Amino acid sequence: MPLPQPNLSPDGETQKLRQQLRELTAEAIHNELIFKRCHEREVTMLSAEGLPQLLDRLTRGMQISFRTPYVSLVLDDPEHELRHLLANTGNDPDQFKDVKFTDRITDFSPFYTRLSSPWLGPYSKKNHRIFFSGDPKIRSIALLPMIRRGCLVGVLHLGSNNASRFTSEHGSHFIHRLATIGAFCLENAVNLEHLTLSGLTDVLTGLHNRRYLDRRLSEEVTRSARYGSALSCLFIDADHFKSVNDLHGHHAGDHVLREIALRVKECLRASDIATRYGGEEFALLLPQTDQEEAFKLAERIRKRICEQSVLLESGQQLQITASIGVSQLASPASEGCDKKLLNDADSALYEAKQLGRNQVRRAPRD
Ligand code: GH3
Ligand code: MG
Ligand code: MG
Repeated sequence: MPLPQPNLSPDGETQKLRQQLRELTAEAIHNELIFKRCHEREVTMLSAEGLPQLLDRLTRGMQISFRTPYVSLVLDDPEHELRHLLANTGNDPDQFKDVKFTDRITDFSPFYTRLSSPWLGPYSKKNHRIFFSGDPKIRSIALLPMIRRGCLVGVLHLGSNNASRFTSEHGSHFIHRLATIGAFCLENAVNLEHLTLSGLTDVLTGLHNRRYLDRRLSEEVTRSARYGSALSCLFIDADHFKSVNDLHGHHAGDHVLREIALRVKECLRASDIATRYGGEEFALLLPQTDQEEAFKLAERIRKRICEQSVLLESGQQLQITASIGVSQLASPASEGCDKKLLNDADSALYEAKQLGRNQVRRAPRD
């Protein structure tokens, strides 16, 4: 059967074919560019060393890679696991301005319930304002669902000032894959943070351990030196603890240690760092707290520990007390000031013991 002949002169046909070729070439170049950007982003996400870095790469990194001015991320965090992991590794969840943590992600926007693949299209202030902070001049957006094991774990929002940047005609295969890899990286980062923290946690009390204190001490000293903020330390030691073990047994002693840890925790702010330093001794780092405030906190802790007796499994009530030493980081910070902070608190604790126990003593200021 003869092929249908287009109703064009040879010149017109050539022009049309050239135009088609130009369009196809432009599309191929555009796709290659997107592929390259997605690939770059995948590599940087996969190499993120922890949750904070991954969140930064999912937001600020996306902004740079895709040269799109608006990027935000909403994450599903029903048990506040992500927020706790960030706080426990010394990161304030609020510092991630482009990340929102939600207790139930599908409550955040009605769009999410139907979002099983990327949605690209025009920006509607009424429907999409919630995804971007401030009053941005967005014309088109891409909503990328991050799905892991069939569950929506997050949604990435990209916004552009250009109306034709994100449209339903654009292929979304690459960015879909990118969001899926983002979800995988998120799960990985959470597991990694748990693993790191488990080596930094005291199994008896659930507080952090001495290794964690060492790690955080250097971070907090650096932060304090950079911002000129105060940093204080408390050393808390249970009084006559040996006699608890001797009279009531090791098991009762463990119970008392857990109870002390609980009472200490009740007195603290989220930013305070409580660790079991060893045995019946606890060390606390108090960022943005001077010695005067630290002393008041130490008094509250001391009272909290002794105000109520501890009920042992045997039914006996046990009166407990603790002695506390307080110190503040020397300013300006100098070589060895981190060790001195701990030594000063320990010396003040020793003085409290010498003076009769169940009291708080301050280290002399330089
Ligand atoms: P002081 O008032 O001078 O601090 O006296 P103390 O008896 O509290 O201090 P000492 O250092 O003489 O004794 C501490 C005891 O704490 C000895 C040790 O067996 C006990 N201990 C250390 N770690 C644990 C633990 O994990 N569980 C129990 N049950 N006891 C512990
Ligand atoms: Mg003791
Ligand atoms: Mg001791």
